[in-house]
Amino acid sequence: MIIRNASLALPGKNELTPGDLRIRRGKIAEIGVGRTLEAQGDTDIIDAEGLAVLPGAIDAHVHFFDPGYTHKEDFLHASGASASGGVTTVVDMPDTSEPAVIDAQSIQEKLSIVSRKSLIDFGFFGGISGLLCDDQLPRRVAEMAPEVLGIKTYALSGAAHFPRVSNHQYYQVLQETRRHNCIVLVHAEDYDYVSGATPGAQARGDGGMAFYLSRPEAAETLSVLTVTEIAEELGAPMHIVHLGTVRAAEIVATCRFVSGETCPQYLEFDCHDFERIGAPLKITPPVKGPENKAVLLRMLAEGTIDFIASDHAPGTREEKNTGSIWTDYAGIPGGPTLFPYILSEGYLSGSMGLKRFLEVTSGTPARRYRIADRKGSIAVGLDADLVFIDTAGSTVVHGEESFSKGKITPFEGKELRGKVHRTMVRGRTVFHAEEGVTGEPGTGQFLRPDPKLRRAGIKPWRG
Ligand SMILES: [Zn+2]
Repeated sequence: MIIRNASLALPGKNELTPGDLRIRRGKIAEIGVGRTLEAQGDTDIIDAEGLAVLPGAIDAHVHFFDPGYTHKEDFLHASGASASGGVTTVVDMPDTSEPAVIDAQSIQEKLSIVSRKSLIDFGFFGGISGLLCDDQLPRRVAEMAPEVLGIKTYALSGAAHFPRVSNHQYYQVLQETRRHNCIVLVHAEDYDYVSGATPGAQARGDGGMAFYLSRPEAAETLSVLTVTEIAEELGAPMHIVHLGTVRAAEIVATCRFVSGETCPQYLEFDCHDFERIGAPLKITPPVKGPENKAVLLRMLAEGTIDFIASDHAPGTREEKNTGSIWTDYAGIPGGPTLFPYILSEGYLSGSMGLKRFLEVTSGTPARRYRIADRKGSIAVGLDADLVFIDTAGSTVVHGEESFSKGKITPFEGKELRGKVHRTMVRGRTVFHAEEGVTGEPGTGQFLRPDPKLRRAGIKPWRG
């Protein structure tokens, strides 16, 4: 296959490069910079005149709820929705499927089900809860390390079946994960602060602002201070998910072994929006005070925050409308809007250069989760995971039109610059603007971490 007349987003370049791509057996075989590649038995020629061709986005934080909670979402619908938003690889969280991914057996069980459904490539995160910090912890970590791209934990948990990890348990977990050079992901909110603040916040009423006051900036910052301190002392790789507080992101940036991500919802909204929008914007951690969002976008553009992910986690209409903000489901279907949002508000609005935009959406998550030998940039030998963009087009977000089972989005009605024209996974088109989601269920491949890097010693992430 040859892609002709494209404007290519090549790694390290701040300008699009005119050129052609040759794809063989799902991989990028040749890049013709500023020249036409002759067909050498290539029968499939795609004309990309007028389109920017970028590496497909990597969404390294999703809850696809499959198996176990497929009334909310499943791998087919979620992967199709992600593809419609330019995502070609996702990494799924361990605790929002049944069984939870906690050892070799549960990995195989989940894999046997979702590998028949996925339209795009996918990896798993394993999980360790407070209940699993027992004498079987070393076995579980050893079984998971070669199969998963990281191990997810909660410093504060909303799920009774997957409780929080306490400070001393973090010490135990990180000792084991360090042994296997496995990264630990943390949902960082301080248990002591939130359990203390919640009764008073509930007494203030039933709106978004009251919920925000139960877990404000200090709740996130205190937890980030604590867990990063343990990781730094042990020299253990750690990643803080869904940062929404500037101060917390600043702390992460001072760490040698800790990386961090944010999500579009923390860049677009604040606690006043939450008061106005209500449950469609309910997420945990909640969006924060208005002084955070613009600074978070700048930190992402400057590299202080490492990358962006969606935290895709839709609830049903009923779960999102229980009659109280305190019981409404916390989570939004962010997968399909992740890449379009940051394409618009980052790259196309001029707040982020092309080079940094590529790092934020694909290059850095690929490196951090050790799949950069296959994913994350347009380079010879890598998978032909591509998103074709009409940079002059525009997109309006309509939840009802989403391929996801989740239709309730806080981005409803938002107009974004740029339009995803086509998404390709290993050279196969899985979404096209005119045809919709076109892939075959089960064609997505399972991604394990690069074994060479796993066996190599731990290197600091920064400094
Ligand atoms: Zn999450």
